[in-house]
Amino acid sequence: MGATGSIGTQTLDVIREHPEQFRLASMSIGRNLELGRKIMSEFKPELVAAAEKNDADTLAGEFPGIKFAYGQEGLIETAVHPKADVLVNAVLGSVGLQPTLQAIEAKKTIAIANKETLVTAGHIVMDAARRNGVELLPVDSEHSAIFQALQGEKEKNIDKLILTASGGSFRDKTREELKDVTVEQALNHPNWSMGAKITIDSATMMNKGLEVIEAHWLFSIAYEKIEVLLHKESIIHSMVEFHDSSVIAQLGTPDMRVPIQYALTYPDRLPHRTGKKLNLAEIGQLHFQEMDYSRFRCLQFAFDAGRRGGTLPAVLNAANEAAVAAFLEGKITFLQIEDLVEKAMEKHAVSDNPGLEEIQEVDRQTRQLVNALL
Ligand code: NDP
Ligand code: MG
Repeated sequence: MGATGSIGTQTLDVIREHPEQFRLASMSIGRNLELGRKIMSEFKPELVAAAEKNDADTLAGEFPGIKFAYGQEGLIETAVHPKADVLVNAVLGSVGLQPTLQAIEAKKTIAIANKETLVTAGHIVMDAARRNGVELLPVDSEHSAIFQALQGEKEKNIDKLILTASGGSFRDKTREELKDVTVEQALNHPNWSMGAKITIDSATMMNKGLEVIEAHWLFSIAYEKIEVLLHKESIIHSMVEFHDSSVIAQLGTPDMRVPIQYALTYPDRLPHRTGKKLNLAEIGQLHFQEMDYSRFRCLQFAFDAGRRGGTLPAVLNAANEAAVAAFLEGKITFLQIEDLVEKAMEKHAVSDNPGLEEIQEVDRQTRQLVNALL
């Protein structure tokens, strides 16, 4: 899901590098028909879902050999396609949740990039995965690093998880300097090339906040045992500290195809010939710095939402999505993103142990609230 996106196209790179191992059975696109056409011609999937019906109809006229679907139903059809063993969930936003749950029920292995799925409904998703004996393999570089560091280890021996953060586009700016930064500046990430929304989330540090909540669910670990460390080079992708004081880190050049491929080959590995190998002598130095929670308020909000749990992480996520969209459209300033998230969280009466429908309702209401505040 999300074949035309940043993670989606890099997943296609992995398939392209290992055609003897992988085949694209089905895929979903949003509105990018031009790229969708190229992917369909090259990979010839059996089923393609578009976001809108008219787009699906247009494409159906051009590709008679492919079956087309659209909307939420289309995403679900993509996710549970009978010929697919693994679902790579690389769609943007909370639309990724329901199809993932359906894929889990259909016993597909899930390679999860989409953050909203675990952030808004971690308890439901992890419970469904356990019930169905389905593996949830992380695609995000930090979680893949932790997952790799934990191979062969016992959960009881973990002291803490240390998530590294590059600091995003504005890591060296003071709060005063953040007041009038532009969308173009925010989209210019120093280390990673990613979709627009997550690039803004990296600059506000909300991305790391969402990752903290994801880590809590993926590795069933208490928030007290999750730490965030600024590391501007993005070479150490995250670490695990054990009781005996050993720290295991996973390193590599910043290249999302590595964690994507690991999720697809786990527990095996395949060569990655098109990537740049890590050369530490060339890099020379790695830098680390304590996280400043008053500088990056969104990270604090995420810890607060995660610890409180219930419907609050869904509010955090939906308010952030709506606020980031408004920032990208030039409607609000950069620092107003965090103000809107804070207001939405303050106004929300948390409900515990929410079901899927309640989460979706909270998601809808929060977006409405943020748009009203705008
Ligand atoms: P992009 O914005 O690059 O791509 C998003 C994909 O989702 C596109 O295929 C887009 O379609 C599709 N899409 C967007 N909205 C909808 C919708 N309403 N219905 C159906 N399809 C839709 O995002 P990224 O690839 O950067 O990120 C995807 C997910 O992975 C996010 O949750 C992100 O947090 C996570 N992630 C990303 C990382 C990265 O390095 N990029 C790293 C770790 C996690 P189209 O373009 O055709 O409109
Ligand atoms: Mg990440």
